[in-house]
Amino acid sequence: MADQNKPQNGGTSNNKNRNNKNKMPRVNLTWIYVIIAVALGYLFFAGGDMDSSSTASKNVTYTEFKQYVEQGYANKIVASKDEGTVKMYVKPEHIRDVFKAGVEQTGKQPFVQAEFPSADKLDDFVTAQQELGNFKGELSYKRTNDTFMQVFWNIFPLLAIIFVWIFIMRRMGSGGMGGMGGIFNVGRSRAQLVEKGGENESKITFKDVAGQASAKQEVQEIVEFLKNPQKFTDLGGKIPKGALLVGPPGTGKTLLAKAVAGEADVPFFSMSGSDFVEMFVGVGASRVRDLFRQAKEKAPCIIFIDEIDAVGRARANNAMMGGNDERESTLNQLLTEMDGFGTNSGVIIMAATNRADILDKALLRAGRFDRQIHVDLPDLNERKAVFKVHLKPIKVDQALDIDLLARQTPGFSGADIANVCNEAALIAARHGKQSVGKEDFIAAVDRIVGGLEKKTKVMTEEEKRTIALHEAGHATISWNLQYANPLIKVTIVPRGRALGAAWYLPEERQITTREQMLDEMCATLGGRAAEELFTGHISSGAMNDLERVTKQAYGMIAYMGMSDALPNLCYYNQNEYAWQRPYSEATAKLIDEEVKRMIAEQYERAKQLLLEKQEGHHALADLLVEREVIYAEDVEKIFGKRPWVSRTEELLTEETPEEPESTENSETPDNPEKPEIH
Ligand code: ADP
Ligand code: ZN
Repeated sequence: MADQNKPQNGGTSNNKNRNNKNKMPRVNLTWIYVIIAVALGYLFFAGGDMDSSSTASKNVTYTEFKQYVEQGYANKIVASKDEGTVKMYVKPEHIRDVFKAGVEQTGKQPFVQAEFPSADKLDDFVTAQQELGNFKGELSYKRTNDTFMQVFWNIFPLLAIIFVWIFIMRRMGSGGMGGMGGIFNVGRSRAQLVEKGGENESKITFKDVAGQASAKQEVQEIVEFLKNPQKFTDLGGKIPKGALLVGPPGTGKTLLAKAVAGEADVPFFSMSGSDFVEMFVGVGASRVRDLFRQAKEKAPCIIFIDEIDAVGRARANNAMMGGNDERESTLNQLLTEMDGFGTNSGVIIMAATNRADILDKALLRAGRFDRQIHVDLPDLNERKAVFKVHLKPIKVDQALDIDLLARQTPGFSGADIANVCNEAALIAARHGKQSVGKEDFIAAVDRIVGGLEKKTKVMTEEEKRTIALHEAGHATISWNLQYANPLIKVTIVPRGRALGAAWYLPEERQITTREQMLDEMCATLGGRAAEELFTGHISSGAMNDLERVTKQAYGMIAYMGMSDALPNLCYYNQNEYAWQRPYSEATAKLIDEEVKRMIAEQYERAKQLLLEKQEGHHALADLLVEREVIYAEDVEKIFGKRPWVSRTEELLTEETPEEPESTENSETPDNPEKPEIH
C-alpha cells in the first residue's frame, strides 16, 4: 500500500547534509566595514573632550585669561601641565560677559582656555587672586592619567566591536582550526593533509578499491607521472593537470584519489568544494590561493576537491537567478591557479562531482580538468568484490554466500555496501551471535532499502486485508508478466513510511525496452487495480504507485519518443532553469493525453489479468494476512514457476566480468536500481 519511494542511498543524504551546512545566511564582510566606519565616525565627531560636547569654549590669550580672573569671572580653574594649558570655567552670571550669549547657547559650564607661560607663574597669579578675593575656588591640576582614561573610553567601543567581530569569525572559522588565531586563518585553506609519517597517514592503494577497473586504469597514468615525471617531460609530453572523477555519491571517488596518492607515495590534500564557499566575501579565493601555495611546497602531491560543483557550477548563465559573486570569484581564482602552475610542477588536481554537466565549461577546458573519469555504481561482479573488501574485518558465518549478497543489492554503491556490512555486524551483535550470518545481512539490506520495520503500527483487520489485497495485486501481475521485475518477497509489515511492500529485484540492464517499461507500469498499477476490483473502493495507499507511474509515462512519451502519437521525439531540456517548454501548447496537450491514455491502458490490462488470476490472487492475499511476509517460493507454489529466465540469473553464471560499456550506451538513464518496493 502506501508505497514508499526508493530511499536514497546513504551517500546522497550525507551530501545533502554537507551542503546544508553552507546555506546559513551570509554575512558580507562589507557590512562589518560599514559598522566599523560608522563607529569611528561617531567617535570622531563626538570624541575629544568628553565635557565639550554640549558646552561652549573659547581660546584666549593668557593676558585675557588673567583679566577674566581679575574681574572675578572664574568659577573653577583647571590646568594641565603636560599640555601647558589652563581652563577657566566661567561663573554662570558672567557667561554673557565672556561669550556674548546666554546659558541656552553656551551650556552650563562654558570655559575659556589659554596657554600659560609656566606653572610657577600661573600658581603665583592664582594665589594672588585668591588673596584678593577675585577667585574663590581652587587651582587644580589635571593629571595625565585622566587623559589616558579619556582616550581609553574613546577607543573602548571600537575594541568591543573588534572583539565581537573576532568572536563571529571564530565561530564561523571553527571546525578544525580552533585554538589561537582563528581570525587570521579564515583565508587559509582547511585542506586535510595526508602524508607519509603524518598523523593521519593511512595508506590506501588500488587494492582497497574494488571493481572500477577502467577508472583505475585511467588514473594509473597519473600514478606513473607522480612517480617518475622525468620520463614524460623528457619526451616533451604534457601531463594533464587535473582529472575529474564523475559518478554518483559513495562509489569510491575519494577512495580512488587517495589510492592514487597512496600508490605514488605522495602527500594528499583533500578539501570539499563547499569549504571554499564561506560567509565572507573573498574568503573562498584566498583559500584557493593558500591551498595551491601549500601544495606547491609539498610537490609532487595530489589535491583532491570533493563536490567541486559547489564552486564549479556554470557562472551566471541565468540572469534571473542572480549571480553568486563569491562563488564566481572562487571559481575564477581556481582557474587562475590551474593556469598558473606549469605542467611539470608536480601538483595534480583531482576533483569529484556527480554532475559533470552543470560544471562551468571553463573548468573542463584543455589544461584544466580535461580528463573525465567515470566512476559508476558497481555491477554484480564488482559488488561481489566490494563485499569481499568490506567483509574482511567482519567475523562471518562459514556458510555465507557472497553471490547472494551481491545479487540482493543492485544499485547499491560501494558506500552502501560498506554500510550493509557494518549494519549486519551490529544486528548480529544485538542478537548476541558469535558470527554474522546470512539473515543479518538480509535484514541489513532490507533496512537500508526500506527503513526500519515498525511492528507497533496499529492496523485494523480491514486495513490489513486491504493492504494484503493491494500487495498481492502487485505480486500477481509481476509474476505473470514476462518483462516485469522478478519478485523477492511481499510483506504487509509497515516499514519506514510504507504500510506494505512488494520487493523486486530489478534487472541490471543498460537499456530498457518499451515492453519492459509497460510491464513494470502494469505491475505498479496492480495494487490499485486489485483494490478497486476486490474491495470496491480505492484508497490513498496507492499514491506513490501513481506518482511513479505518471512520471514514467511522462518520461516515455516526452523524452523517449515511445508513444505512437509522438514517435521518436525527445523534448528533454538540459537547462535546469528553463521555464519555457521546448514545444507548443498543442504538443503539451497531446503529451498530456498520451500520458493519460497509456496509464489507462495499463490499468485496464492490470484489471484484466487480475480477473484472470483471481483465484491465485486471493490465495496470495490470504497467505499474506496469515503470515505477513511471503517469499518468491510461496508465490511460485501458487502460480507455478515463471517460464522466463531473468537476465540477472544469466549474468551470475557468466565467468568474465562485463565489458566496460560503450560510449553510446553510457548516457542511458537506466542505471541499475535498488530493489524496488511498491
Ligand atoms: P565518493 O567520494 O564517491 O562519494 P567515497 O570514496 O567517499 O565515495 O566512498 C565512501 C566509502 O565507501 C569508502 O570509504 C569505502 O569504504 C566505500 N567504498 C566505495 N566504493 C568502494 C569500492 N569500489 N571498493 C571498496 N570500498 C568502496
Ligand atoms: Zn502499491
